[in-house]
Amino acid sequence: MLTRTDEVESLMSRFPGVPREAVIKEDLLRGGVAFDDSALSDNESGEVKPKSYFIFSFDHRTLPELGAAALRRPPEEIVLTGGPYELRRTVVSVRVNPASPYRVAADDHGMLGLYLDGKRISDVGLPPMPEYYRHKLSNGKSVMEVAPTIQWGYLIYLTVFRVCQYFGAKQECQYCDINHNWRQHKAAGRPYTGVKPVEEILEALEIIDRYDTAKASTAYTLTGGAITSHVGGRDEADFYGMYAKAIEERFPGRWTGKVVAQALPKEDVQRFHDYGVRIYHPNYEVWDRRLFELYCPGKEEYVGRDEWHRRILDSAEIFGPRNVIPNFVAGVEMAEPFGFTTVDEAIDSTVEGLHYFMSRGITPRFTTWCPEPTTPLGKANPQGAPLEYHIRLLEAYRATMDEYGLTSPPGYGPAGPGNAVFSVSSFMDSLTV
Ligand code: SF4
Repeated sequence: MLTRTDEVESLMSRFPGVPREAVIKEDLLRGGVAFDDSALSDNESGEVKPKSYFIFSFDHRTLPELGAAALRRPPEEIVLTGGPYELRRTVVSVRVNPASPYRVAADDHGMLGLYLDGKRISDVGLPPMPEYYRHKLSNGKSVMEVAPTIQWGYLIYLTVFRVCQYFGAKQECQYCDINHNWRQHKAAGRPYTGVKPVEEILEALEIIDRYDTAKASTAYTLTGGAITSHVGGRDEADFYGMYAKAIEERFPGRWTGKVVAQALPKEDVQRFHDYGVRIYHPNYEVWDRRLFELYCPGKEEYVGRDEWHRRILDSAEIFGPRNVIPNFVAGVEMAEPFGFTTVDEAIDSTVEGLHYFMSRGITPRFTTWCPEPTTPLGKANPQGAPLEYHIRLLEAYRATMDEYGLTSPPGYGPAGPGNAVFSVSSFMDSLTV
C-alpha cells in the first residue's frame, strides 16, 4: 500500500519545478498536523506564540475534540528546515489534526521535529512570543484577541466582525466555519469579541507599534463576515472603512491597509480607497459557475457570480489592478458530491479563472482549503482535495503569471522558497524571488 511518504516523494519527482518545500507545506495545510504535548504553547503565559484563531478555526476537529491542544493551544505557525529533503525555511500555518500522518514532536534531546509516517523529515522552529502579546489593553483584553499577527509577524489580522450575515445552510459558504468558530470559542469561555470597537483596535495597534521595534509588522487586514444590511448603523463599506480611517489618522502610513470584503459596487469601493485602504480582496472563492452557485449561495443570491466578477474588474479602476487581489479557496473544486472528479478538470477550470483575471492585470491568490468538520464540504470530504491538485495548481499559477508578465502580488512579503512568510498557501513559496 502506498504511504503518504510515497505520495509526497512521487509528486516531488513528477513536478521538479515546484519547490519541495511547497509539496510538504500544501500537504500540511490540506490535511493538518498532530501535535505532541511537548510542542504546545501554554497559551499566552508561555514562550511560544499561540494559535489565535484569527478568523476561521482552520482545524480538522472541533475544540472539544482536540484535548490538550484545546487547553494549551498549538503555536500559530511552525517553521520547517533541513531534513532529508533539505528544506529551506518554510513557514506553515498550524491546522490541527490528531489523525494526520504528520506529527510535531520532540526527540530525546528535546529538539522538535516534523515526522511523517513516523520518520523525521525536518527540524521545527516555533514562533517566539512577541513582546506586544505580553501587554494587555486597559480593559484587560489581550493583543492576541484584538489584533493578532500572523505570517511570522508580517500581517496584523483584524477580524473586526467575527460573524457573517450570511447565516445558516441556505446562505453560508459551504466551506466556511466563521459562525461555528465564533460559537465554539464562546462555548469554551474564551474571549472572542463579536464586533471589535475601534478604540480597542487602536489601543492594540499602539502596543504593537511600541514593541515591534524591528518593524516586522508591515500590513494589516481588515476583515470579517459579509454585511448584507448594517452593523452599528453602517453598511459594509462604511463599517470596515471606519477602522481604516481611524488607523490611518492615528498611524499614517505605518502599515499597508488591506480589506477583505464582498465585491461591492464601485461607489462603495471608492469609499474604501478614500478611507485609506490600499489593497482590496473581493474574494471570488471558486471559479466554476455551478460550483459557485452551490458553494456560495448567499453571495449568489445577493450579488450573483457575473456581477461579482464585473465588480472585481471595476474595482481595478480605483485601486489599480495590482492592488486588487481576489482570493479563491484552492481545493473545493474537487469536493464531493458536486466537485470535479478529476484533477485535470479541476485545474482546467481554475486556470480559466486565472486567465480571466490575470489577462486584465489582476493577480488572484489562494488559500489552501482546510476541510473543517462543521462545514458541509468539510464533513463530506475530511481528507480535503488530492495533494496532486494543489501541486499542479502551484505550477499552473506560476505559468499563468509568467504568461502575462506578472510578479508576486504586493502585500505578501518576500517571495520564493526559503523567503516566503505567507502561511496559508505556498503560492508565495513557489514564485521566483
Ligand atoms: S461570505 Fe462566505 S466565506 Fe465569507 S465569512 Fe461569510 S460565509 Fe464565510
